[in-house]
Amino acid sequence: MPLNIPIAENILSANDRLAEENRTRIEAAGLFSINMMASPGAGKTSLIENTLPRLADKVRVAVVDGDIATSLDADRAAAAGAQASIQINTGGQCHLDAVMLHGALDQLDLKQFDLLIVENVGNLVCPADFRLGTHKSVLIASIPEGDDKPYKYPGMYRGVDALVINKIDLLPYIPFKMDFFQRGVEALNPGVITFPLSCRTGEGLDAWIDWLVQNVKR
Ligand code: MG
Ligand code: ZN
Repeated sequence: MPLNIPIAENILSANDRLAEENRTRIEAAGLFSINMMASPGAGKTSLIENTLPRLADKVRVAVVDGDIATSLDADRAAAAGAQASIQINTGGQCHLDAVMLHGALDQLDLKQFDLLIVENVGNLVCPADFRLGTHKSVLIASIPEGDDKPYKYPGMYRGVDALVINKIDLLPYIPFKMDFFQRGVEALNPGVITFPLSCRTGEGLDAWIDWLVQNVKR
């Protein structure tokens, strides 16, 4: 009998199997874990930098940073107080996959942490297709990207568990129609929990931190 499963599907199911294994390890260690996705420059690393000091003394955090090159983001996470930070250089690949996270988990004593933050490669397309095994997917949108992104990147907006809207301090200066943006989100992902905030001014960060802490305690 000819085997005609498309290669892309084979790769994805292999990825899903390993994502399950990652999830089992994360659960066994009692960690809460998130996969942060966004376009380049939306503020993934900035949000991590602004989150870690607010969790200090309460939550022990490990950060896994995915980038095509450099360890700049892992260095920033360490400087902001992450108890551990690991850089994955994808060598050109434009998303993290479960194999890469598996390798990073090997380098961590997971029982030492309460929260695992995975910062995916900046990209609004394929990270949505590669499950990592984390509990929640978080998308960070930002005002300068424009209000049409839910319409242009539906796959990304459809699959996430939480949505951060960063850089709201720029709303007075940029023609961003929040109604239009949120209608697009609502059509793809009704009722998704949303955190409008500004990493620069700190506005809105408390609600985001509360959500993380509640999930860590659960
Ligand atoms: Mg970054
Ligand atoms: Zn990719």
